[in-house]
Amino acid sequence: MPEFPEVATLINWLNHQNFFDAKIKKIIFVDDIVLKNSTKKSFINFVCGETIKKISQIGKFIIFHLSNNKIIEIHLRLEGKIFYLLNNEKSKFPMIEIYLDNGKKIVYDDSRKFGTINIYNNYQDLLNSTEIKKLGKQPFDKTLTANYLFNCFKNKTQKIKTTLLDQTIIAGIGNIYADETLFLCKISPFRQTNKVSLKECQLIIDNCREIMSKSIRNKGTTVFSYQYALNHSGSFQKYLKVYGRKNLPCLRCGSILYWTKINGRGTTYCKKCQK
Ligand SMILES: [Zn+2]
Repeated sequence: MPEFPEVATLINWLNHQNFFDAKIKKIIFVDDIVLKNSTKKSFINFVCGETIKKISQIGKFIIFHLSNNKIIEIHLRLEGKIFYLLNNEKSKFPMIEIYLDNGKKIVYDDSRKFGTINIYNNYQDLLNSTEIKKLGKQPFDKTLTANYLFNCFKNKTQKIKTTLLDQTIIAGIGNIYADETLFLCKISPFRQTNKVSLKECQLIIDNCREIMSKSIRNKGTTVFSYQYALNHSGSFQKYLKVYGRKNLPCLRCGSILYWTKINGRGTTYCKKCQK
């Protein structure tokens, strides 16, 4: 699943494309199951005739800002992708094709169909929506501080791995960056959340930001099928220290890395380094 760095990479890419003055003239649906608060018809009425002004990010959500303040909010979930293609180009699993008046189209592609698309009349309505309202701090938000995390953690007895995946605390961390962050912090994924010290909270923030920045510079991590553009994959997987390395030697101490499930999520860690 694309996490914060993969979504950031995709948005950077899209923001460098040349569709910002083009008008949306036609929409073709292969499947409309990803539309959550609109129907095919109301989506077409909402979007056609508008132009795309800019694209921004909230956690793992992609926000298309259209003319007349309209908003399209997309969550890629497991396998969603967004491609900007020539009209005659094809992606593998197109679901929605948005044709522009410049001879190109924006394609929402999703082999698993788990993605979600919502529309809002304006940005404030988006911020007031249930899915955005409940999100915690963004990884690079200045208000994400050790004190904030420490406060969120203090009454939680669940394992820290589970807490890092909780989007209501930090929005944008998924399985890959949770495992990598805990490894760098030398914190066991099994540690009770309220046993993480204030100092370690700062470490979590610093390491998470460092890993995500490096990932964004490498255009994200492609483990399964993530692409930020058609046939363009990320390369941060080369730098992963624990994720996907079960039974391989720890890059810090040489012991064999373990893999287990914590709250249903695969977790790779070093028993010796992470306490
Ligand atoms: Zn180790």
